[in-house]
Amino acid sequence: MVLEIALCPLRCGAWIQRKHKDTHVKECPKMDKRNVLALTEESSYRDVQSTELETLRSKLVLVDERSQHFLSTLVSLRAALTTVMRLENAISSLVHEQNERELGGN
Ligand SMILES: [Zn+2]
Repeated sequence: MVLEIALCPLRCGAWIQRKHKDTHVKECPKMDKRNVLALTEESSYRDVQSTELETLRSKLVLVDERSQHFLSTLVSLRAALTTVMRLENAISSLVHEQNERELGGN
C-alpha cells in the first residue's frame, strides 16, 4: 500500500496524507492567517468607505452652509432693494409735494 503524501496546499510546510488533506487544511496555521488577512482587508475597506462617506458628508455640510449663506445674502439683498424702492418712492413723493407747494406759492 502506497501512502500518498503531499505538501500542504496552503504552504505551511507540512507533509500530509492525501486522505487527511481536508482535515489538515481546516486546522492549518496558514488558514488562520488567511482569515485574519481577510478580516483586516474587510475592515480596511470599511474604513475607506466610512472615510469617503465622512468626506462626502462634510462636503454636503459645506454646500449647505454656502447655500444658506447665499440665501441669506439674497434675502438681505431683496430687503435692501425693497428699502431702496421705498426710499425712492418717499423721495419722489416729497419732491412732488415740494413742487406742488412751490407751484401753489407762486
Ligand atoms: Zn498546512
